[in-house]
Amino acid sequence: MPNTQAPNKFSALVGQKCPHCRRGPLFCFPWYNLKSFLKMYEHCPHCGQQYEIEPGFFWGAMYISYAFTTGWFLVGLTFYFMYWPPMVPFILFYISFIILTLPINVRYSRTILLHLLSPIKFSKQAFLEGKMKDVPLK
Ligand SMILES: [Zn+2]
Repeated sequence: MPNTQAPNKFSALVGQKCPHCRRGPLFCFPWYNLKSFLKMYEHCPHCGQQYEIEPGFFWGAMYISYAFTTGWFLVGLTFYFMYWPPMVPFILFYISFIILTLPINVRYSRTILLHLLSPIKFSKQAFLEGKMKDVPLK
């Protein structure tokens, strides 16, 4: 029997799924594909929801990404002043960490923008029926 229970908003966000049906993927490739980690589907493969709802919509994700980076900076600064590690290796580690987590940071910024700050709302009907039947239920 197929699962008819839609995932909640948090698990759809963590799984980077469509905010309308919570079933179709947002991104075409996994985050570790460094060549195309930012390539998104124009429309949800399951329900057909357009992701970029207006031109330049994803520019707003830049602010969320900035908040993530600032958060990591504050964590690093707190760690530095608590333990006083050698400065140069610590700064090199911190810069490497920010660069290595960049794909995850940018992808979750876009996902958060779509799930929390866009007018796209969840639809149980879109989850159950969709437009295309190519995404298997998990
Ligand atoms: Zn969808």
